[in-house]
Amino acid sequence: MPMLSIRIDGREHRFEQGISVSEVACAIGAAAEGQWLLGGYLDGQWVMPDHRIECNGRLHVVTESSPEALDLLRHGLAFLLAAAVRHLHSGSAAGSIQMTETGFAMDFDTGRPLLAAELGPIQAHMQRALAQGQAVISHQVGREEALSMLSMPDERYQRQLAERWLPAQTLWTHALAEFVLISIRPMPALIESHCAFRLMQVSGAYWNGDSTQPMLTRIHVAAWFHADHLQRSLDQLQEIEKRDHRKLGKQLDLFHFEEQAPGMVYWHPAGWSLWQVIEQYVRDDFRKSGYQEVRGPQLMDVQLWKRSGHWRHYQQHMFLTESERRRYAVKPMSCPGHVEIYKAGHHSYRDLPVRYAEFGNCHRNEPSGALHGLLRVRGFTQDDGHVFCTADQIEAEVAAFHRQAMQVYRDFGFDAISLKLALRPPRRMGDDASWDRTEGALRSALARADIAWDELPGEGAFYGPKLEYHLSDSMGRNWQLGTLQVDFLMPERLDATFVDAHGQRRHPVMLHRAILGSMERFIGILIEHCGGWFPLWLAPVQAVVLSVGIQQADYAVKVATGLQERGIRCHADIRHETLALKTREHSLRKVPYLLIAGDREARSASVTMRARRGEPSRTLPWQAFAQLVEHKPFRFNGHPRESET
Ligand SMILES: [Zn+2]
Repeated sequence: MPMLSIRIDGREHRFEQGISVSEVACAIGAAAEGQWLLGGYLDGQWVMPDHRIECNGRLHVVTESSPEALDLLRHGLAFLLAAAVRHLHSGSAAGSIQMTETGFAMDFDTGRPLLAAELGPIQAHMQRALAQGQAVISHQVGREEALSMLSMPDERYQRQLAERWLPAQTLWTHALAEFVLISIRPMPALIESHCAFRLMQVSGAYWNGDSTQPMLTRIHVAAWFHADHLQRSLDQLQEIEKRDHRKLGKQLDLFHFEEQAPGMVYWHPAGWSLWQVIEQYVRDDFRKSGYQEVRGPQLMDVQLWKRSGHWRHYQQHMFLTESERRRYAVKPMSCPGHVEIYKAGHHSYRDLPVRYAEFGNCHRNEPSGALHGLLRVRGFTQDDGHVFCTADQIEAEVAAFHRQAMQVYRDFGFDAISLKLALRPPRRMGDDASWDRTEGALRSALARADIAWDELPGEGAFYGPKLEYHLSDSMGRNWQLGTLQVDFLMPERLDATFVDAHGQRRHPVMLHRAILGSMERFIGILIEHCGGWFPLWLAPVQAVVLSVGIQQADYAVKVATGLQERGIRCHADIRHETLALKTREHSLRKVPYLLIAGDREARSASVTMRARRGEPSRTLPWQAFAQLVEHKPFRFNGHPRESET
C-alpha cells in the first residue's frame, strides 16, 4: 500500500493511502475517549470523519475540544432549528444567526410574531430529527450556484445574506429534504449524545437591525456538547436574570425610565446617592493624578463639529437644535470643548502635559430598538479626560493611565481585566503614515510598560487607535469599560498649538481617556456584578435604625441623626409597623446594617446590629457602631482598600 505524508499541526506523519480522517485522529491521539470527532480540514477543505485520504496534504482535526468546535455545533443546531420552524410554520423564512456566549440566536419571518409557548413543539421536532440521525447534504458552493439555489420567496433573507457574504467568504449550502440553508461554516453530522440544547425565549428583531425593515422573531437557544454544560449555563442565565440591573433598579428604588424620554434616566434619591459616591471617588482620582476639572458647553455651533470632523463621520448620532437661524449640535463627546479651553491659553512645551477632566454629559442618537436599561442609553455622562502632550510623552502618559485604571477597577471589585488594542477602522480620517505612527506609539508604550495585550484590527475610532480595558464580571461576562485613544488629528484640525524649545508653534498630541466610560453603563454593570449587594462604601443607605414600638421613636431618630452627623448614610424607620415587616423591607433593599432600637437599647444608649451577610446579631453602644463603620479599612467617603461584596 503506498504511503502518504500528512502534515498535522506542523508535524509530519506517514500513513497508508486511503486512511480515514477518524483513523488518523485515533492514531495521533487527537480525540480523547468518548470525544466527538466532528471532522477536519484537509488542505483547507472541510472533510467528514469517514473521508478517506488519497494524497499527501495538510490536515487539521476538529474534535469537540477544538476552539472552533462549539461554533460548528451551534451552526449545525441552527440548521435543525430552521428546518423545524419551516416544517411547523410553512412559508416561514430564516434570517441570520448570531453566536452568543451561551449558544446562538436565529431570526425568522413567520408572518406573525412567534410566542414562547410555541417553542416546545419546535424543540421536540429538533430532538426527533436528531434521534433519527437524518442525513444533511452539505456542499461548498460558488456564487452563481448559491444564488440559483435561493430563488424562492421564503429564501429571500438567505439570498441577501449570500449576496453580502460573497465573494469574500466560502459558502456552504446544507439541505435536508427540500429545505436549504446557506452558511459560512461547514456542518458536522450531529450526534444526539453530544448535543445538549434548550430553546430559551423569543424576542423581536428588525432585519439587519434596521427599523424600516420587517420585524422578525428571534429565537434564543442555549447550546453545548454535554448536558452538564447546558445545566451550568442555564443556572448562570437564571442568575443573570435575577441580577438584571433593571429589576434590581426597581427593587432598590435606584432609577426608572419613561417612554417620553427614551434612553434617558430618571435617577431616584438612592440611585443618585450611589452615583455621587462614585463621582466623588473619580473626582478625587482625577485630582491625585494631575487632572484639572473643566466644563464645556452642552450646545455648540455645527461649524465647530464640521471642523472637528464629527459632522462628516458622526452626524447620524448627533441631536441637533436651532436658534436665531444658527444650527447647534448637542455634544456627543467633550473633546472639541476641551480643545477650545486649551486654545484659550498660551502653552509652552514646558507646560505639557496639560490634563483636563470633565464629567461630560453627552447625548447620542442611538436607535430606539438598541436601547437597553442603563447599558445602552441616549443621555450619559463620561468620566472623560484629555491629555495634551508631545509625542515623546505618550509612553509615560499611557503607563500612568494604565496604573490608575487598574487601581480603580480593583477598588470597585473587578479583578479579571484584559487589554486590547483596536486598530484602524475602514472609515477613518488621516493617511496611513499617521496611523502607522499612532499605532506604533501605543504598541511601544505597552511593550515598555511590560503590559500584555491582544489586537483588534478594524475596531479603532475614526480619528485614532484605541486601547481598551475589558473586564470580566462575577458571572464571567465581559464588558469593555476604559479606553485610551491617541489622536494626532483633532489638535491639528482645530489648530491647538504649543511653542517648542526652538520657539516654533507645534500641534500637541491629544489622548482621549476614560476609565469607567459611561457612568450610567458602569453603574448598570456594577449592580449586576455585585447583585445589588453594594460594598459598604457604595451602599446608598448604609444603615437603618428600626424602632421596635412607638415608645422608641424618639430614641431611633436621635441615633440616626447622630450617625448622619458622623457622615454615615442612615435614617430611622419609626413607622407603626411590626419589626418583622420593617426588617424584611430593608433586607430586600440590601441595606448593609439594620440597627434595632427597643426598650433595652434605649435605656443603655445602644443598638442591636444585624449585618446583612449572616453575621450574628450583637448589641453595642451606638457610638461604637459609628466607630466600627468609620474604622472599616474601606472608608465610605474615601478610597476603599478592599471590596466587600
Ligand atoms: Zn475625547
